Amino acid sequence: MIKTDVVILGGGVIGLTIALKMLNTGREIILLDPEEPGTGTSYGNAGTIAEYAVLPVGSPEIIKKLPSLLFNKNSPISVKRTEILSLAPWLIRFLYQSMPKQAAKNAQAITDLLANSRLRWEELADQINGKSLLNRNGNIYLYKTDSSYESGLKDINNRKKYGLNAEMLNPSELNKLEPNLNFSEGGASYFPDGAYMSDPGKMTKLLLDASVKKGCQVIKKEANRIDRTSEGVKVTLADKSEIITKHLVIAAGAYSKKFAKQAGDYIPLDAERGYHVEYDMKDPLLNRPCCSAENGFYMSPMTGRLRVVGTVELGGLSPEISRHRVSHLEKGALSFFPDLGKPSREWLGFRPSIPDSKPVISQSSKGNDIIYAFGHGHIGLTLAPVTAEIVESIITKSKPPLPISEFSVQRF
Ligand SMILES: Cc1cc2nc3c(=O)[nH]c(=O)nc-3n(C[C@H](O)[C@H](O)[C@H](O)COP(=O)(O)OP(=O)(O)OC[C@H]3O[C@@H](n4cnc5c(N)ncnc54)[C@H](O)[C@@H]3O)c2cc1C
Repeated sequence: MIKTDVVILGGGVIGLTIALKMLNTGREIILLDPEEPGTGTSYGNAGTIAEYAVLPVGSPEIIKKLPSLLFNKNSPISVKRTEILSLAPWLIRFLYQSMPKQAAKNAQAITDLLANSRLRWEELADQINGKSLLNRNGNIYLYKTDSSYESGLKDINNRKKYGLNAEMLNPSELNKLEPNLNFSEGGASYFPDGAYMSDPGKMTKLLLDASVKKGCQVIKKEANRIDRTSEGVKVTLADKSEIITKHLVIAAGAYSKKFAKQAGDYIPLDAERGYHVEYDMKDPLLNRPCCSAENGFYMSPMTGRLRVVGTVELGGLSPEISRHRVSHLEKGALSFFPDLGKPSREWLGFRPSIPDSKPVISQSSKGNDIIYAFGHGHIGLTLAPVTAEIVESIITKSKPPLPISEFSVQRF
């Protein structure tokens, strides 16, 4: 049996960032993942460092739009019909969290957690030689019609209540920033403080390499069970081998719920399935990630390809790709760039989502021997560095970088 100081269960961007942070405290760290770390959801996202994503998914506006959003096959949010019963408890909590008072409270907590995300990523990227992958061109929301521009303006004014820095652009101002976009009406909102990664998969590889160099032991096996024992937390792996650890960090993204349950906590975690299609090309048409506000997807310029990425499909962890969702992305992309042709590849990933859009970054209800770091939904890439700082403060019993009660497991 192996004994160690800290086991991190899950090697996505959250687990990897925590591993690197904890190695700096001189502790012995084991990272567990049956897959190559960083190649899941943390690889296929839109790459935005989205300090502007201050609003939770659940809001009073979404309640009004919900029937058309859920039952119109072409809407940016859909529900897998076969999963509707198992999703019901999550959806009920989501509706409650979408009410005005709850949504405003959640927005403030998310705003506080997002503060300085770009700065934190700049420092982290510097440490792991990833500076060239981080771009500071800002990010854009696109509105193709005057009426969606008007809705966008309301959305931006709402975000400005939380201190957001954003500018509205008319079609010719947009065209100066993005010469390949020629709108006859509508416009855009521009977030000059936004940043993005030109290859999230390469960034997670750099995180892994830096952790291994500092002594992190990576065990490519699946964890099956966790138990508290008198010697520490016992992690039993799929091959029946065991590890005893002083602290266990559960960072398995959308797969974390069963481990929290084994630790004694019920957490309403479900997966928001998201897709991407990629078009290989030398110059990927855009200077920064641009989000189609009407269609709910980003077009993100990545190294050697344009990634068209997003939409939400509520409904579990099955690996089956929805042809309809993929074709929604393809058709949407063609409406901006008619000459794109067929995509070079497609991908499905799982956003780990909590109904109030706030991650769980917290010690378990029974103590800091088990720590939760999952549920980052749409903004896990952005929030990885601050999550690692909070986890470090929980393990070392030091002051966290911000008040953390909003992210506690006690809220459920
Ligand atoms: C379409 C899409 C677009 C997105 N765009 C953005 C964006 O632009 N900006 C942003 O900030 N965020 C974005 N996100 C969200 C972000 O990608 C996620 O929040 C983030 O990747 C979650 O990271 P994670 O480490 O928690 O999970 P993951 O990356 O899913 O990692 C979890 C790891 O746990 C491992 N694991 C699972 N079960 C076990 C087990 N039993 N034992 C051991 N290991 C296990 C898995 O193999 C996996 O490697 C997007 C997500 C999607 C789907």
